[in-house]
This record gives sequence, C-alpha cells and structure tokens, in this order.
Amino acid sequence: MASKTGSCLCGSVTYTLAEEPKAYGACHCGMCRKFSGGIELGIQVMPDGVKFQPTETLAIYESSEWAERGFCVGCGSSIFWRLTAEGEMEGMFSIAAGSLDDMSGLKFDTEVYVDHKPSSHAFEGDRTKMTEAEVLAMVNGG
Ligand SMILES: [Zn+2]
Ligand SMILES: [Zn+2]
Repeated sequence: MASKTGSCLCGSVTYTLAEEPKAYGACHCGMCRKFSGGIELGIQVMPDGVKFQPTETLAIYESSEWAERGFCVGCGSSIFWRLTAEGEMEGMFSIAAGSLDDMSGLKFDTEVYVDHKPSSHAFEGDRTKMTEAEVLAMVNGG
C-alpha cells in the first residue's frame, strides 16, 4: 500500500498527505522533463490535502505565469508542481510520486502532454492520454 508520507532525497523536506494516494500521472512537457531530469510522475492533491513540515530547504521556483515548482535546496530533489492561476483548481499540487516513501499499489492512470514526449521512450499499457491543447482547455475551463 502506498504511504501518505514522502520526502526529498536528503530527508530535510518532508510531507504528509491527508489521504492515502491512489494514482499518479506522467507529464511529458519540456518543463517537467527539465525539472525532473526525466519524466515527472505526479499525484494530484488539492491544497488542503498535503501538509509540509516546516523546513528552510524547501524552495519555490516560479516556472511560468500559472505554475510554480517546489524543490529541496539541500539535495535538489523535485518535490512538486503547483497551479497558481486563478480558478477552480488554483493551488492544486502535483506531488512528485517518486518522493513518496512507498509507491506500491498506486495506479498509473494518466499521461499528459503526450504530444511533447520524446519518441525514444514510451510507457507500456493503456491509460488516459491528453495533448497539450486538451490539458490547457481543461485548466482554462474550456
Ligand atoms: Zn533534500
Ligand atoms: Zn509538465
């Protein structure tokens, strides 16, 4: 069973989820590729669904006009992507699934920005897939 707790590699950034995570998704966009150094796998959590323990090593990088990213300045681990644009989903986190203490039992259910994925790799199996245009329409409520 997946854990509700997670941390960065050095352990100075730690968090607890309000509920046991069920699923994660992959984002193939170029920014997530750079941020994660590979493929960003994230668990969607609303703002009150995660609590970070106080630490001085959690830094925030404003990666675009509508999102920010959290990482550990001690070890460089990617911790989250967060929507900052106004709207129903404002403040939503995508917590790096790999930062969970235990990922077992999680379902891998979505892939977004599939039109940005390098052709040299692909995940096996069937799941919801969305292009950049489909994601933007959803975020903008279109
Ligand atoms: Zn760290
Ligand atoms: Zn992305």
